[in-house]
Amino acid sequence: MAFVIGLTGGIGSGKTTVANLFADRGIDVIDADIIARQVVEPGTEGLAAIVDKFGADILDAQGMLDRAKLRAYIFSTPDAKEWLNALLHPTIRLEMLRQTQQATSPYCMLVVPLLIENGLQSLCDRVLVVDVSEQTQIERTTQRDNVDETQVKNILKAQASRKERLSFADDVVENECSNEELNAQVAALHSQYVALAGKQRESS
Ligand code: ATP
Repeated sequence: MAFVIGLTGGIGSGKTTVANLFADRGIDVIDADIIARQVVEPGTEGLAAIVDKFGADILDAQGMLDRAKLRAYIFSTPDAKEWLNALLHPTIRLEMLRQTQQATSPYCMLVVPLLIENGLQSLCDRVLVVDVSEQTQIERTTQRDNVDETQVKNILKAQASRKERLSFADDVVENECSNEELNAQVAALHSQYVALAGKQRESS
């Protein structure tokens, strides 16, 4: 059985940066954002159901889901968001489970931005939170994405608060630091996770 670390954190906290440091150590990283796209690729049941509901107009010229149009529908159609979540969340969850079970590294990392918000902790043996202040989230995201502060603040409001997220953490990476210090934190966690995964294998 795979030993699964759920990696989460708010927008711009450094999840990708931290996940890459684990990947550098040979750890399989499973990305929820990629899975969320895979389940609506052309040919999937997910995309067929969306076309049934909203019409073929929801596709772009290449037959791919037009995400901007979908967002507009969700905004203007009552209950559309609940309908979409009810359709896709079970499939996304199953795919996450399948990919963690296929992992071959000593433990694997499941990167889920909305892990807490969507109650996906049950898929994980431990929850690792990447933590920074809201001010740092705003600064780093506005710089990276070239968006304005209001947009980032709105996303922050829609996500779990820092305090709430931290209340679910088994481990925390504090990311208000240099790359060297970040790497040292990941090195220590990696050793701890290899040991814990080994113990789990021995006892199963
Ligand atoms: P999102 O939720 O938006 O996908 P994320 O949590 O994956 O974001 P990253 O993309 O890893 O966050 O980091 C956000 C930005 O902050 C990036 O531009 C990254 O290079 C930068 N960054 C991450 N860690 C640090 C650090 N310790 N010092 C300075 N910049 C950092």
